[in-house]
Formats: sequence, C-alpha cells, structure tokens
Amino acid sequence: MNRNQIQSVIERVYAADEPGIDDLLFLLELKKPRDIQTLCGFADRVRKNFAGDEILLRGIIEFSSYCRNTCNYCGLNKNNKQLERYRLSREQILDCVKTLTNTGIKTVVLQSGEDDQLDANELAELITDIKNRYDIAVTLSVGECSRAAYELWKQAGADRYLLKIETSNWLLYRKLHPGMSHENRLRCLLDLKELGYQTGCGCIVGLPGQSTKDLAEDILFFKRLSFDMLGIGPLLPHQNTPLANQPHGDIELTLKTLAVTRIVTKRAHLPANTALQTAGGEAALRRALCSGANVVMPNFTEPSLKKLYEIYPNKICIFESPQQVIVNINSIAINIGRVVQLSRGDAVKTKEPAAILA
Ligand code: SF4
Repeated sequence: MNRNQIQSVIERVYAADEPGIDDLLFLLELKKPRDIQTLCGFADRVRKNFAGDEILLRGIIEFSSYCRNTCNYCGLNKNNKQLERYRLSREQILDCVKTLTNTGIKTVVLQSGEDDQLDANELAELITDIKNRYDIAVTLSVGECSRAAYELWKQAGADRYLLKIETSNWLLYRKLHPGMSHENRLRCLLDLKELGYQTGCGCIVGLPGQSTKDLAEDILFFKRLSFDMLGIGPLLPHQNTPLANQPHGDIELTLKTLAVTRIVTKRAHLPANTALQTAGGEAALRRALCSGANVVMPNFTEPSLKKLYEIYPNKICIFESPQQVIVNINSIAINIGRVVQLSRGDAVKTKEPAAILA
C-alpha cells in the first residue's frame, strides 16, 4: 500500500463509531518506519485536538508489595518467595503524599498488589484524610475488590480507579492468571464505572499466545467501554515467574497500539507507561509522547522500598528521584513543544468538546 492508502485507512478508523477489525489489524501490522511515523503523527494530532498539549503528571505511591495472586508474568506474584515484601504504614503513606504535594502535583495514585491484609475501612479513612489535607485527586489501583469496598472508597472521596484488563481475550487471560476470572475482572470494571469513578483500563503487549488481532480486540474493548484512562505497555517478564524465558514485548508494536488507541478513543488519558520507558529508555518516552500519550507518572514511593515493588526487573524509576523525573519531563516537553501540567487532569470527557481534527 502507498502512503495515501495508509492515510485513508487511518482516517476511516478515526471517523468510525466502531472501527473494522481488519483496519485496526492493518495499522498494527505496519512495518516500515515511515508508515509507522505516519500513524504516530496522526495519533499525535488527535491527542493535540482532544487532550491538548499538556503532559499531565500523576504521582504514584506503591504502598504494599504483598499480593494473593499468581499472574504468570509479575514479580509480585505470591509464588515469588525471593522477593522481600513491604507494607507502608499510614504515616509512611502520608509522608509520601506530602512529598508529592510539595512538588505541586495534584493527583496521587495509591497502588498495591492484591493484599489480603488491606482493610477497606482503613483505606477509606486514609482517602478521607488525604482529601481533607490536600486539594488533590485520589486514584486507587489495588486490584479486584467487592463492589461494597469500591463504594466505600468512592464515598470516602476517591476519584479514579485503575484496573487493567491485561488482555480482552478471556482464554489467554485465564491461562496467564491462575485462579482469576475474566468475568470478575469485567464485573469490577463495570462496578467502578457505575459507581462514578473515572476508570482506567489497559493491556499488555507481547503476552505469549497473544495475536495482533487480540490487540485490535483490546482497542475495540477500550472503545466500547469508554474508559477515561488507558495504560499500554510491553510485557517485561520477571525472572522469578513462569514467563521468565519469554521475550520482552516489542516496543514498536507497543507504540503502534498506543497510537491506534489514541485515534480510536480520542479523549482518553494515555500514560507513557513506565514499562515502555524501562524497555526503551528516554527515546521510547519521547516517542510515546509523540504517538498519543499525554500522561507521565513519577514514582513517590519511599526510595529504599521502590526497588522491592518489582513487578518487572530494572524498573526505570528505581534509579531516579521523582524530582529528577519532573525536571527531565520538563526539558522533553520544551523540546517537543509541549507543556508540563500539574493540575488534577480529570477525564477529558467531562470538559467541553475539543475542536474537530483539522
Ligand atoms: S499483576 Fe497485580 S494481581 Fe497479578 S500478581 Fe502482580 S500485583 Fe498481583
């Protein structure tokens, strides 16, 4: 296909209420750097028109590395007996939140494994405490929980929730997540949306047994459920897991998935994922920001502990402070004609519609 034909597929996907799976597949399978650039450049313009030029910062605090689950790729899975575990006290979490707010960032993401000792009432009290002390948005990412717990935390003041589907292919999901079910994952996502959370989802690129068609289906799933945030990153298998010998997810395919997701979903907040930065360094971060991404998440976990939150090895944030990340993002933003924004950065769909793509 020549460039005009590629452009016309991109425009068809952009304009469609429900893009055709063959068109999505075609874009995800582009191989030539020039064609991939055409795709990413279009996604960048969609990002500009629907989400603006701001790069939003969300500060993440990983407050417990305990997890009851055994996801086949994740270093936090409970069968990884070599990992030293930690659980932050309420005071330690509040200290991290204070450091975060001192930078001016207006969103805290409280993340953990699925910790059996998580007390729903204690988390609710913590959320209320944070909301009383600071004018910031609270995002939770603590996994699959009961609707009652989600409701309690929403009433306590939580604004957003992140729960990636990882893959919308339920057979593949079952294979990679022993003891978990796609049905419950979906139930959680629907509960979160019904309860009024700004809800984030996402997928992993490069899972063993995953086809490009699966990724196209993931994108259609994101569109149908109209998520507010979507995290897309490459598989980085941990050495102490059943997937230890699997290759990393492909950076080019991850960037294409990000770009097509932007073109299809238009307004969703898309982070330049930490796994992508770990796999591809600063170059991948820049490319993600120029392929539809508009969010970066500096890590405010206590420095001595963040290396223990080892979902995958060599996480990039271990080696730099969040303050350094912010300085770095600022200089990248200037370089690519963007601006770092410290505000809450709520779901774009709650704002006035943006201009139609020129
Ligand atoms: S991916 Fe999440 S739920 Fe699965 S083992 Fe890791 S921390 Fe636990």
